[in-house]
Amino acid sequence: MIRGARPGYAPAVAVHGIDLGTTNSAIARVGKDGRPEVLAGLSGAATTPSVVLFAGPQEYVVGEGARREARLDPEHVCALVKRRMGDAEWRFVAHGTAWSAPAVSSLILKSLVADAGFATGEEPTAAVITVPAYFGDEERRATVLAGTYANLDVVEVLSEPIAAALSYGFGRLDGGPDLSKTSETVLVYDLGGGTFDATVIELADRRISVLAVEGDHQLGGADWDERIALHLSRRFCADNPDAEDPLDDSAGSQALVLAAERAKLQLSDAERTEVVVTHDGARATVPLSRDELEEMTAPLLRRTLDLTRSCLDEAARRGVAQVDRVLLVGGSSRMPAVAELLRRELHLDPQLHDPELAVARGAAIYGEKTELERMVT
Ligand code: AMP
Repeated sequence: MIRGARPGYAPAVAVHGIDLGTTNSAIARVGKDGRPEVLAGLSGAATTPSVVLFAGPQEYVVGEGARREARLDPEHVCALVKRRMGDAEWRFVAHGTAWSAPAVSSLILKSLVADAGFATGEEPTAAVITVPAYFGDEERRATVLAGTYANLDVVEVLSEPIAAALSYGFGRLDGGPDLSKTSETVLVYDLGGGTFDATVIELADRRISVLAVEGDHQLGGADWDERIALHLSRRFCADNPDAEDPLDDSAGSQALVLAAERAKLQLSDAERTEVVVTHDGARATVPLSRDELEEMTAPLLRRTLDLTRSCLDEAARRGVAQVDRVLLVGGSSRMPAVAELLRRELHLDPQLHDPELAVARGAAIYGEKTELERMVT
């Protein structure tokens, strides 16, 4: 049950909201003004790559520094650990130590806790941690375990689309409709770095429930980067037939994929850009337009459309003839092609607002409500 916060009624323990994501994670809390705020650490970045570099037996680095090493030192870099949650057999072995998925995840959580401590002067002790709607009991238990290893009281494990919807104001009492009379359905289109999820959720009789879920957990922004990197390497090789293909070398391919991602980000704002590729003593300047990017990645986007359609079909079978709102979540939903596709093909009018922070913010809103309810009841 989600109720509106009472003005001036602050919970004793700040329950933080944590988006423990496949590619990026974030931590938030509800501030004194009643709004959720994302807490950044020393780096100033609102999100932390969910990547751990095991630099030595007792030494590890979490975040951007680890992400940059991913292709250079794959034996010591653990990425995408979320895909292993719930797999009791899986271990990441580095410097002779075997790490379970909750253990690796706890390092990411500890890094977020430290960031929150840096931002507020007080390290969080309790949190709501989000998980994909399709996570089963094993994965949810593994998530709680990760929180426990990080010395967190995990107040609740909350579905990501519900958190995202809360941050977009779904089910809010202040100034909004009376929850007891409200029935609203929302489609959450979540395209992150490594996963895609489409979910239809419903708010009815003061309860929020997940009606339909579809997704591809091997599809995300990284696939766009790979596609662009391939295009850049072909152009580089065409211009420099005697030079080595950058994709044949770990440092070259790491640099190329990072350059591809930068170009992709630029093309969400600009119509065209240029990428300079240097490798093996040679150089190529590759112009790239948004149209070209969209053309070379069209099958990827089409797959998200097909899955969204199946999700809507499933919701229709459960009695939802049409959705009231469409929310875009995940950094990759910033690509203009996403909203255009949903408008053109499904005649939907999506909302986009800080898509990579929505889940953490919603978890913080949920955490605050839970804590208030614990105090009242
Ligand atoms: P998330 O997992 O939600 O943090 O999303 C991460 C993914 O979003 C990465 O693949 C990023 O490259 C991608 N991303 C972030 N910002 C943008 C943008 N402005 N345009 C396109 N993709 C983006």
